[in-house]
Amino acid sequence: MPLMVLQFTPSGIYCPAGDFHIDPWRPVPRALITHGHADHARPGHGAYLATAPAAPVIRHRLGAITLDTIPYGETRQIGAATVSFHPAGHVPGSAQIRVAVKGEVWVASGDYKLVDDGLSDPFETVRCHAFITESTFGLPIYSWPDQATLAAQINGWWAEAAARGQTAVLGVYALGKAQRVMRLLDPAIGPILTHGAVEATNTILRAQGLALPDTVPVTDGVDAKSHPRAIVLAPLSALGTPWMRRFGAVSTGFASGWMALRGVRRRRAADRGFIISDHADWDGLNTAIKATGAERIFVTHGYTRQFSRWLTEQGYDAGIVETEYGDDTLENDSLTEEPAP
Ligand SMILES: [Zn+2]
Ligand SMILES: [Zn+2]
Repeated sequence: MPLMVLQFTPSGIYCPAGDFHIDPWRPVPRALITHGHADHARPGHGAYLATAPAAPVIRHRLGAITLDTIPYGETRQIGAATVSFHPAGHVPGSAQIRVAVKGEVWVASGDYKLVDDGLSDPFETVRCHAFITESTFGLPIYSWPDQATLAAQINGWWAEAAARGQTAVLGVYALGKAQRVMRLLDPAIGPILTHGAVEATNTILRAQGLALPDTVPVTDGVDAKSHPRAIVLAPLSALGTPWMRRFGAVSTGFASGWMALRGVRRRRAADRGFIISDHADWDGLNTAIKATGAERIFVTHGYTRQFSRWLTEQGYDAGIVETEYGDDTLENDSLTEEPAP
């Protein structure tokens, strides 16, 4: 029986050799954090360890915490465990955490994607014996369009709205998705306006040197008259609220991996849906898992039952792990404290 480098406990993923948890959902003395999304970086832990580029967002969200940082690729000895953080390509600063004990190597990948978004350090394959994977989009129906196609779709929709005298309002998650969309936008069409929740994240990411296009925060006096032909990036919670009245006639869009599902567009009541996700699609999950060389696969949040059955059929020793990472109905990938719309 191979060594259980990581165990699955009611508080979260636990390493007995190093006496630490990874992305725990209950308060623990020592937490290693893969990235700053609300369901992975929770308040209440005694001490935190995360990558240097993930730290500013985590601090912004969790306030005064004891947070130590580590560069990608650097190894650190914690008790009898050797740990290192490697790019997960999910959002800026996101990491897979490699844990080695007595030659047995396990990787907890957190959330990940293989597509290079030009913003996050690209996903790195880490060879291991056991791999803990998400399965948010672990069904063959999920297949993402390439970046160029996506850019053409979003810019086409924006330009058409502008030509009709409408403001384009796109619902996005404040951390990751918003900035990724921003980099695909063609500023020749018009100005890019941002909701406070999106701009707060922009400010943090710009301060750490990430290149983002110029944006205009929506404040008093910023409206359809002052900024014609604009696109507005706002959290989903702002769509359809009185905050939007200033933009006059609008065309609304929504950017999510769930757009690959029929019916979601109607439910979201947006005029247009764009398939864009910070998670791996079906091919991405399979490619990543194969490349690790791992024989044991633990499947967490998402289509766990279907995906682990598929992996078992492919010859892996695969099982489901119950976690409290949120994504049952939506990508739970916003900052928790979004200002009121
Ligand atoms: Zn995430
Ligand atoms: Zn997640």
